[in-house]
Amino acid sequence: MLSVKNLTKIYKLKGKDTKNVVALDDVSIDFPETGMVFLLGKSGSGKSTLLNTIGGLDTFDKGEIVIKGKSSKEFKQSDFDAYRNTFIGFIFQEYNILEEFSVGKNLALALELQGKKADKEDVDKLLDQVDLSGYYKRNPNQLSGGQRQRVAIARALIKEPEIIMADEPTGALDSNTGKQVMDTLKKLSKSKLVIIVSHDREFAEIYGDRVIELKDGKIVRDVTKSVALAEKSKSGVSYIDDKIIHIKKGQVLMPEDFVNINKLIRQNSQNQDTIISFDTKSNDEIKKVAFITDDGNREVFSDTKKDDLKLKQYDPKQFKLIRSRLKVKDAVKMGTSSLKHKPIRLAFTIFLSFIAFGLFGLVDTMASFNVATSTYDTLRQLDAKTLSFTKGYKHADSGYTENTPMKDEDYVTLSTTYSNYNFFKVVGSGKSYYIQNAESSSSSRKSNLYDANISGFLPIDDDTLGKLNLTLIEGRCPTSDDEICISANIFESIKQNYKNISSLADLSDKKFYASIDNFDNKDIVGIVQDDTDISKYKSQTGQNNEDIMNYLNYTEIRTVTSYGLVNMCYVTQNVYNSILSDYKVEKGYSSYAGEYKNSTTSMATHNTKSFSNIVEDFNQSHRYEYKKYNEQDGYWETSYFYDESEVPDGYKKVTYEDDYIMY
Ligand code: ADP
Ligand code: MG
Repeated sequence: MLSVKNLTKIYKLKGKDTKNVVALDDVSIDFPETGMVFLLGKSGSGKSTLLNTIGGLDTFDKGEIVIKGKSSKEFKQSDFDAYRNTFIGFIFQEYNILEEFSVGKNLALALELQGKKADKEDVDKLLDQVDLSGYYKRNPNQLSGGQRQRVAIARALIKEPEIIMADEPTGALDSNTGKQVMDTLKKLSKSKLVIIVSHDREFAEIYGDRVIELKDGKIVRDVTKSVALAEKSKSGVSYIDDKIIHIKKGQVLMPEDFVNINKLIRQNSQNQDTIISFDTKSNDEIKKVAFITDDGNREVFSDTKKDDLKLKQYDPKQFKLIRSRLKVKDAVKMGTSSLKHKPIRLAFTIFLSFIAFGLFGLVDTMASFNVATSTYDTLRQLDAKTLSFTKGYKHADSGYTENTPMKDEDYVTLSTTYSNYNFFKVVGSGKSYYIQNAESSSSSRKSNLYDANISGFLPIDDDTLGKLNLTLIEGRCPTSDDEICISANIFESIKQNYKNISSLADLSDKKFYASIDNFDNKDIVGIVQDDTDISKYKSQTGQNNEDIMNYLNYTEIRTVTSYGLVNMCYVTQNVYNSILSDYKVEKGYSSYAGEYKNSTTSMATHNTKSFSNIVEDFNQSHRYEYKKYNEQDGYWETSYFYDESEVPDGYKKVTYEDDYIMY
């Protein structure tokens, strides 16, 4: 399933007299389909680098990774994200458990993050797998290190990975709790490939089915465990290397056994004691360290041979990567083709943003989680003056939200019900842009804020600027159809992604291209600053699904940049109309930006209605979906009714909750 070929990784160090570090030097390994593989070596030998590169967390300079027959040479950068997402569960030395929540809730959250059902039964199943049955309600501070680590393992199991990778998973544990963790991993290795980095030879040899030892970035030993048959007497007593006598449960000794045993004891007694033990527990321990199997044979290590691996053949054509279901960027892309009514999971994004904010002090609302109130609290905290709405149907059973384009009637509802807001219809995009005639910069992106994506289009003129709480920081509003204004953050991204651009003037000979249908290149004539405070996201780089805080921050940025004004483009009314007509989605808009009339006061004190009430009102006015089984053709027919009294017999109500989602 997994192999690496000639993998080389060099850390280039800056400074005159420093040498480059060759962290991996031409490493090739075919991993077995299942079992426990240890990467063993002293500190600095390259173990973590190897694990991180094969796990897609780090890049490499030469060589390739082949996964299910497909080479990394055919991977795009985004494929590495998907590869991690599809195949690998990571376990790190630090456990990253949310201290505020019970063990069960931690796992439930992680399930939700993966877009899965998170009922108590689902969580209990996970707890079972890591030998923590009955720990649902336990607080993390009442767990031992080993138990915490097993919660982390349970979390890694959620995405049903085929490979588990762990970097010194017991590094922070004493040997006893370390053993519990290893036992759990060993159990999982019966059906998965488990790759463990360790510097502990004893653990590696006791638990490992294979041990690969590294030194200075090279493989110096690669051995696989196999069973060497012991010498057995007629009665079935095993004599292992003349060192150990193994008598199976229920066995009766024959006269020749007495003779042999006596002989061995006599031989040995000159040098040391002979131990005869009748204690089940210590027998287990002795068997483990002496590598004795339950059949009285002995496990030995010998050089790994291709036959040991029992490799399966994979057809690269069958290779499928699961794109993260949670990436807002993708969600937005789907949302714009939203239009084709693909289900997307915006609820998770909002849910995630909430948790992220929640950790800043709103945790107590967790128990009665509610998108509306929590978002409201969040916005109040941020003192946001503009926000966006999108509309979605939330499946009450699964928690998925399917977003639907808003229609003019929604716009009317929003504007009339909440007349103290100005609503603007944003044509959502989520598409990328590029700058024509500019040379891209090769340096890596400084923050996830600077993805080359645009969130949408709004028409703008001097009058709308104020209503949206926007300030023109350079240039002017677009006055002709070949002109565009960009947000300050898009301008910042351009500076990051292209060479030699530091002011608006540097863009005067260049054109702005957006990857949407029928978009003619435009001149950038102005830069517009909105009121969203994004400073705290500036240093957020990378994405790590397993580190929950990193993940939540990442998701939060995605939400902010995908739905707010942060990455908005501003065009003339005419251009806006034409983009809108190209989308032709029953005249749907993907979001509305709302603005408070008196933007100098916070919405909490100024607004007559709380946001929870707003959402409640919308809920009340929503239609209901019903299903009826069509016996004849064998499928469920869907119908919509606005009034429950209109529903004919035989229809079953589909439990959706309707939400207008605010960003
Ligand atoms: P191990 O996990 O076996 O302790 P690592 O894979 O972390 O070893 O490191 C291998 C070598 O690469 C070491 O010499 C280490 O100093 C070097 N190294 C690791 N990470 C970096 C980095 N980010 N920049 C420069 N050198 C690094
Ligand atoms: Mg390491």
